[in-house]
Amino acid sequence: IDSKDFVKIMDIPFLNKTKKDALNHYIFPRLNKQQKCFIVTGNPEIVMKTREDPTYKQIVLSADYVIPDGAGILLAAKHIKEPIPERVSGLDVMMDLLSFAEVQGLRCFFLGAKDYVNEKAVLEAERKYPNLKIAGHHHGYFELEDPAIVKKVKDSNPDIIFVALGLPRQEEWISKHIDEFSKGLFMGVGGSFDVLAG
Ligand code: UDP
Repeated sequence: IDSKDFVKIMDIPFLNKTKKDALNHYIFPRLNKQQKCFIVTGNPEIVMKTREDPTYKQIVLSADYVIPDGAGILLAAKHIKEPIPERVSGLDVMMDLLSFAEVQGLRCFFLGAKDYVNEKAVLEAERKYPNLKIAGHHHGYFELEDPAIVKKVKDSNPDIIFVALGLPRQEEWISKHIDEFSKGLFMGVGGSFDVLAG
């Protein structure tokens, strides 16, 4: 039996791949082709939120890839006899994207978290990946509609936009604005800036 590319849990199609496969066969090729891409870090909280908020569910369903982050997702997949090979953490994918961006010369924007966390996360990214191109960065306390924020992101000509506004705000911001961009990989990364900042 061929393993399916996606496994649906509570209607949400999770990418049924290892992190390596997800990156090499799905995510990196889109970056190489400058094809827009929306990635949701699919943890159990996100799934629960889609159950209570139909608008949010539509947003998550509009994503290109929902990656299986969290033991609860793997348990649920096992329970319906469609096991997912491994947990793919949003933080790990973000770090691998930073590494890929450094090598490929792709520009990264860091949107979200508290001001000092945001700055520290950028510094840590630069320390870990010295040749990384930082397109720009901004803290995460603003109105979702604020045109100045989206303009700042757009004007920085980013290839990868990490959005750390917590859920549901990060997916809402991406969904609201992605059409205004001509390229870019957009990924909601939750508390990953806080972890990176240490
Ligand atoms: N955050 C933000 N703006 C907000 C709410 C949250 O930038 O309006 C940031 C917060 O500082 C943290 C990240 O989003 O860096 C994740 O927040 P939280 O842990 O509350 O969200 P969750 O874990 O529920 O996604």
